[in-house]
Amino acid sequence: MIPVLRTKLDRQTPFGFSCKQCLQCCTAKKIQVNPYEIARLARNLDISTTAFIARYTVHNGSFLQTTHNKTCLFLGAEGCLVHADRPLVCRLYPLARHVNHKGDEWFSELQPEQGCRGIHKKTGTIENYLEEQGATPYMLAANSYLNLLWEMMTILESTTQDDKDGTEEPENTMVENGQLMDMDAALNIYCQERELRVPRSVEKKMQMHLEALYLWTKEKP
Ligand code: SF4
Ligand code: SF4
Repeated sequence: MIPVLRTKLDRQTPFGFSCKQCLQCCTAKKIQVNPYEIARLARNLDISTTAFIARYTVHNGSFLQTTHNKTCLFLGAEGCLVHADRPLVCRLYPLARHVNHKGDEWFSELQPEQGCRGIHKKTGTIENYLEEQGATPYMLAANSYLNLLWEMMTILESTTQDDKDGTEEPENTMVENGQLMDMDAALNIYCQERELRVPRSVEKKMQMHLEALYLWTKEKP
């Protein structure tokens, strides 16, 4: 666990940080990713999300894989090899973002890595920092997938309640088939069923992916 220096911070909290790219903080971290982040990284490497998940993630696409010495696979000699499409946690460090099921948002400031050469600035706010890091589309995507997960959990709970006398566990075929994390696989099925074209942009693909997942959640609890 990374020590937390301050928590319950909001977007107007004074904060500024300039990373000096010393490459020390890309080791011994669990980088969790969502389907949008996977799609951005897959586009960066010009491969499908299916191939990305198989080659670069663990736990069915939930975390980026690391090397045997626990360094991120995307850390090159000159820095992050996928910098333009790096995940949200990498953009925010040394901040962390939290959102609860009501949509309340807050931030924590983490203890920077030992030997971190980054410089804390005396000007700016968390809001400014988020803008500098290009975090907005990532935060919107995280909110959207979190809302979906909460809805899935609500439906699963009500199904379990309805089925409490039964002996079988409720099915979760989307998770089993990987459609939750694998945007390309999900869209191939969804578009084929409806004779639609798979959109090109990651943002449009994400919207359609969410549409498909909401529909399937309701159809196949
Ligand atoms: S994706 Fe890039 S910034 Fe994030 S941990 Fe890996 S190398 Fe570091
Ligand atoms: S350790 Fe600090 S300065 Fe070095 S790359 Fe990470 S955030 Fe930037």
